[in-house]
Amino acid sequence: MPEINVLVVEDEEAIREMLTMVLEQADFTVHAAADAQMATVLLEDITPDLILLDWMLPGISGVEWARRLKKGDAYGEIPIILVTARGEEEDKVRGLDVGADDYITKPFSPRELVARIRAVLRRTGKFSKGGKIEMGGISLDIEQHRVSIGGVELAVSPTEYRLLEFFLTHPGRVYSRTQLLDQVWGRSTYIEERTVDVHIRRLRKILAEHKREELIQTVRGFGYRFSDTP
Ligand code: CA
Repeated sequence: MPEINVLVVEDEEAIREMLTMVLEQADFTVHAAADAQMATVLLEDITPDLILLDWMLPGISGVEWARRLKKGDAYGEIPIILVTARGEEEDKVRGLDVGADDYITKPFSPRELVARIRAVLRRTGKFSKGGKIEMGGISLDIEQHRVSIGGVELAVSPTEYRLLEFFLTHPGRVYSRTQLLDQVWGRSTYIEERTVDVHIRRLRKILAEHKREELIQTVRGFGYRFSDTP
């Protein structure tokens, strides 16, 4: 597997070290910076495949730095995952508006972080060997775009596959229909929100054959959540 370089920008030393350790264990090569200024200097020497960027940084904030990178020619193509704290939920959407490729909310598990990074790298074509994601008995083969439960392959459409992949890499959080449309169908498409319900219904029907339909939970008045705890 080719070397995958991740630039971690995080001002809190303990978190920075924890992220470095988790990513190194997942076979990423990690470069770390404590703020955007230091990260800018690092970019003169390395070209990361992905930037994991803390939202709250002293000096230039993570979101502002992301905006600058994405606007420029030199680094605009590097995928960025913004790290936000709880209570900044609405900011996350703004993070995507400045061009960040995804966001992850603290606290998150190492498994969730690594799955998220791989999903973004794969989506942006940087990383084809995504390996497998397993959750709630569902096994997703990212490389082959296959889903199985207990070794039995599920007959899902490409859209349903993408929906499942999104859910498995974003577990335990509620997403509105609009957010799911943006993330799974893409922001440039104009599809009715009802379409999301149609695909969720189909997906649940398929999962129900394996008694796994409760993994996709309806959160009344807001949207859907994927969780392996009821
Ligand atoms: Ca911080």
